Amino acid sequence: MKKTDTQNSKSNRKVAAKSSAASGLRELFIDELKDIVYAERALVKALPKMAKNATEPKLIAAIEEHVKVTEGQVQRLDQVFELLGESNRGKKCDAMEGLIKEGESIMEETEAGPVRDAAIISASQKIEHYEIASYGTLVAFAKTLGEDEVASLLEATLAEEKEADTLLTDSAYNSINFEAAEEDEN
Ligand code: FE
Ligand code: FE
Ligand code: FE
Ligand code: ZN
Repeated sequence: MKKTDTQNSKSNRKVAAKSSAASGLRELFIDELKDIVYAERALVKALPKMAKNATEPKLIAAIEEHVKVTEGQVQRLDQVFELLGESNRGKKCDAMEGLIKEGESIMEETEAGPVRDAAIISASQKIEHYEIASYGTLVAFAKTLGEDEVASLLEATLAEEKEADTLLTDSAYNSINFEAAEEDEN
């Protein structure tokens, strides 16, 4: 069989739902909340390692600040689970595990300094964008389900993730990428 045939049959394949699959929007919503709480808890552990490997003080400060913010987001999710009467047990988020792993290997592949800082910004922006996408969807689901109090808690987190993304973009454009480019010229 040609390689493309295998790829086609794979992409055309219908996915059979597991018996534990979410049967309604509410279940899907709870499932995705469990995913994001797992992701946030993983970040509480991963972000300090990124800060430790960064050089630029502003970048270190931005990441350290986001660790605190992330701890608050975990607490906010605990509140969400309580409001919904659901357990706050997380469910492995493959995407965040992958993003964190990528961040780790990109740090290993660079030397400490402006280039590694640029790599850290790159990895953390991918992380923030994943979170922005997740919380954007979660807010929409909460509103659709009439969970207004939950929706506003999730909206508060969404705003924090957007702010973190902006701060990272600023630190990248203000100095780090320029220093990294200068290093290339040397
Ligand atoms: Fe977060
Ligand atoms: Fe996920
Ligand atoms: Fe990738
Ligand atoms: Zn974040």
